[in-house]
Amino acid sequence: MTIFKFLFRKSDLECPRCLGKTFVDWDDIKRLNRQLKWVPAPCAYCLGTGKVTKEMITNVPVDYTYLTIDLPESEMDKIKEGNEETLEKGRLHDLFLDDLIKYADHHYSINNMDATSIADLYLNTEDKTALFSLERKNLIQFIEKVIEIKRTN
Ligand SMILES: [Zn+2]
Repeated sequence: MTIFKFLFRKSDLECPRCLGKTFVDWDDIKRLNRQLKWVPAPCAYCLGTGKVTKEMITNVPVDYTYLTIDLPESEMDKIKEGNEETLEKGRLHDLFLDDLIKYADHHYSINNMDATSIADLYLNTEDKTALFSLERKNLIQFIEKVIEIKRTN
């Protein structure tokens, strides 16, 4: 290969999220400690190519929760460009999930409530101006997962 090809070969690093497999599986999810936040899916970090650029690794943390394959492409691009506003939105979304996990964990452990009751309690007291929210069905599923992980740990 010529020196130019070498210099302009941009995507030549193994993707640190899926380890080059192009797919994020449960092993990756456990390794990155995202059990409650991700499900196995094609890798959004390398867009299913297994390779990433150095800039990508510099701009976006590998375990950046918000970057998943179900995001609109425009949103993904902003993350990859290091757009501050979008990155901040992602950080807030991560905090929202962390709070929800704590909330579910608390009501399960202390008040012995099931996922449906916890979800209904949450929705009744939810701040209507909150930046993020989950539909009841998804919320129940999420809380069931929190309880399941709590039980098995
Ligand atoms: Zn990947």
